[in-house]
Amino acid sequence: AHEGILRRQAARESAARTYARALPIVPVRARGLTIEGADGRRYLDCLSGAGTLALGHNHPVVLRAIRAVLDSGAPLHVLDLATPVKDDFVTELFATLPRPLADRARIQFCGPAGTDAVEAALSLVRTATGRRGLLAFTGAYHGMTAGALNASGGADDVRVARLPYPQDYRCPFGVGGPRSAELAARWTEALLDDPKSGVREPAGMILEPVQGEGGVLPAPDDWLRRMRDITAARGIPLIADEVQTGVGRTGAFWAVEHSGIVPDVMVMSKAIGGSLPLAVVVYHEDLDVWPPGAHAGTFRGNQLAMAAGAATLAHVREHGLAERAGLLGARMVGELQGLAAAHPCIGDVRGRGLMIGVELVDPEAEDTTAPGPPPAAPALALAVQRACLHRGLIVELGGRHSSVVRLLPPLTLTDEQASAVLDRLADAIGAAAR
Ligand code: PMP
Repeated sequence: AHEGILRRQAARESAARTYARALPIVPVRARGLTIEGADGRRYLDCLSGAGTLALGHNHPVVLRAIRAVLDSGAPLHVLDLATPVKDDFVTELFATLPRPLADRARIQFCGPAGTDAVEAALSLVRTATGRRGLLAFTGAYHGMTAGALNASGGADDVRVARLPYPQDYRCPFGVGGPRSAELAARWTEALLDDPKSGVREPAGMILEPVQGEGGVLPAPDDWLRRMRDITAARGIPLIADEVQTGVGRTGAFWAVEHSGIVPDVMVMSKAIGGSLPLAVVVYHEDLDVWPPGAHAGTFRGNQLAMAAGAATLAHVREHGLAERAGLLGARMVGELQGLAAAHPCIGDVRGRGLMIGVELVDPEAEDTTAPGPPPAAPALALAVQRACLHRGLIVELGGRHSSVVRLLPPLTLTDEQASAVLDRLADAIGAAAR
């Protein structure tokens, strides 16, 4: 069955398929960190549905919540009508919001994916400000629909101005450290103050508190506070894309909490649905200018996803899993930094909580910290990913040059499991670098 399924999929599916190409396995069972393939092999899953599975696969509280809805006879789909399931979800979600926003928040359910919620956020700030232009950042990833794609830099749209996202390692300004964040902030201010820049009156600014697809780049807290000050002073709504960073992943329930900033709009998806598709945009009531019907869609707020999501949010909050992710992530980053000392092909190790990146470089390169694409590293990263799979470990690649090995394990990861993940990764890097 295993080989046949892989063969048929390769023959029938678009060449655009990505994960299935990189990870030729056939998952048939899963629990917690572990996936079992049709061939009986077991894998430690540090991809977690691209960061969706905060509690890992098939967590009992998630399964119980889904079963309770199924057994209750409640409707599975009623558009956006009020239901007890929806009421619970919104109550649970609002209890997690950063303070000043929580008291005056509005929520809009969007289509099932993160990109739908990004699209909604962009539409909201454009309607609220009556302006068109948007500010987004280099290396950003917001999704694959037209507006989100423009903000990600995947398409050319003069209405999106791209600003420098601070980056310490291989810093584009050639300075690194806090100075790179300072320069990035000054660049943004200069652009907004320049009467000829064409972006003096944008509809909003969208940023990721930690870039995920961009290569696990945590934004410095100071820089985030600068962005908050700059946008507040100019009346520009600030949109935080917490699709990947939310629900405890980075060591705080929402990643913006590390810096203390309160965005005007928060985009949420992935883990909020407890492994089922769900996406929402939450924003300050002052921005709630949408008339009825201004943002519609058939699949907004799936009942099962809201039940699984409410159970997940409650479990993360009640068990302090955000704090736990922060502590365990710091330990893992520390151990990986130790590994980097022994492996010259590891250029950088970084992360926030259980969002961890290992950037690979060509150890033969003259200057492994110089800005720009790291020579030969994408091939090495691919070899590490393969070597990991061979050792029963699923990891994802990312970064502007596909040279970053990314770990997004569930927040329920135990100390022993973390050690097993690190052992296999170290072994894989050793084998691939030979
Ligand atoms: N924003 C961020 C920060 C993301 O990481 C992603 C997905 N990786 C998206 C938006 C898009 O979400 P989706 O793939 O569900 O459309």
